[in-house]
Amino acid sequence: MTRFRILLLSCLLLTVASGTAQSSNHPDAAVGAQGRAIHDSAIVVDTHADTTQRFLDEGFDIGSTDPNDVGHLSLDKARRGNLGAEFFSIWVDPETNQGHFAQHTFDLIDSVYEQATHHPDRMMMAFSVRDIERAHKEHKLAALMGIEGGHSIESDMRLLRDYYRLGVRYMTLSWSNTNEWADSSGDMNDTKIQHHNGLTDFGKQVVLEMNRLGMIVDISHVADKTFWDTIAVTKAPVIASHSSARALVDAPRNMTDDMLRGVAKNGGVVQVNFFSGFLDQDYRNQMLAQEKDQTAAIQKYVDSLKTQGKPVNYIGVNRMEREWMAKIPRPPFKSLIDHIDHIAKVAGVDHVGLGSDFDGVSGATPQGMDSAADLPKITQALLDRGYSADDIKKILGGNLLRVFRQVEAVSREMQSHPN
Ligand SMILES: [Zn+2]
Repeated sequence: MTRFRILLLSCLLLTVASGTAQSSNHPDAAVGAQGRAIHDSAIVVDTHADTTQRFLDEGFDIGSTDPNDVGHLSLDKARRGNLGAEFFSIWVDPETNQGHFAQHTFDLIDSVYEQATHHPDRMMMAFSVRDIERAHKEHKLAALMGIEGGHSIESDMRLLRDYYRLGVRYMTLSWSNTNEWADSSGDMNDTKIQHHNGLTDFGKQVVLEMNRLGMIVDISHVADKTFWDTIAVTKAPVIASHSSARALVDAPRNMTDDMLRGVAKNGGVVQVNFFSGFLDQDYRNQMLAQEKDQTAAIQKYVDSLKTQGKPVNYIGVNRMEREWMAKIPRPPFKSLIDHIDHIAKVAGVDHVGLGSDFDGVSGATPQGMDSAADLPKITQALLDRGYSADDIKKILGGNLLRVFRQVEAVSREMQSHPN
């Protein structure tokens, strides 16, 4: 989720996002026979989609084949793109859910299960590497869940364990908001927010408890100091479920080359975010230039809803964000490949993967990347840049599966030797 924090006008450097259907007006890069064959032989894993908000707020059915639907993800689009596993984001807006983070977390978790229940022939809940492999053999989409933002645990370790028991397999330590125990990259310049200089002692305990449970530690969104504190304390490899490279685009949410090398040393993986505002500096500059007007327009809309006593939810705000983002020309497809390539060069090809942020960026993705059906174009583009079939398959999902397997092994080890 890369959205405006609706009610926070401090919106500073935040991870704005949006854009409407913005259909790409240049011809799709052709995927050749070799590219298609490599792509179809891989287990493709995407570690971040916000389609979950659509399930809950719009009643969206992932089985939809509506040709006018501008969403990034459906079972049909996943099939066309040979997407094998998706981590559905469990993102609780900290502004609109004050006082009931856990309840909203549970509601989102339920919405993913409900989709799987309605489509047992094409989708299954998955909780392990073995489940992902089984889903692949059965030609079903493996549905996993990752919590986006440590505020969901309400500073309660028991809730963290309950989320694991319900199937949550990663947690992003913070979203754009600093919580009680982890600083976020999203509000470091906001002097009204109480910061902790990274992770608090409780935050470090959360990381270790996640290691023990077998829940992947996700450092997307966190402040740089939180990142380094996490790397120092974790006993298992970490992921950045949806983050790109700061050397290419100067966004606080993107990772510096030192951080990329830190993840490599830790054995983890950085999953590249497809949001145009993280991939292309020109796009980002235009986005920041219109930010004040955009924020004011959305605030006006939210205020009018409140005046009318109507609820403020994701749908209306998302629609407005899409309209604003659509004003900015989409960056070329190569901007996405540039980030994959940069991370592969700095961290190594074993430490890069895909974390689309589908349905969480209000349509603002590069030209040619309109939905999960376009994933094979990434394979073709990497092939064109000289990547081997083996390396491409690592990027498409192999690296993530390796990290997940190691997280499972560390969990078994910690549980067999309790202190
Ligand atoms: Zn996010």
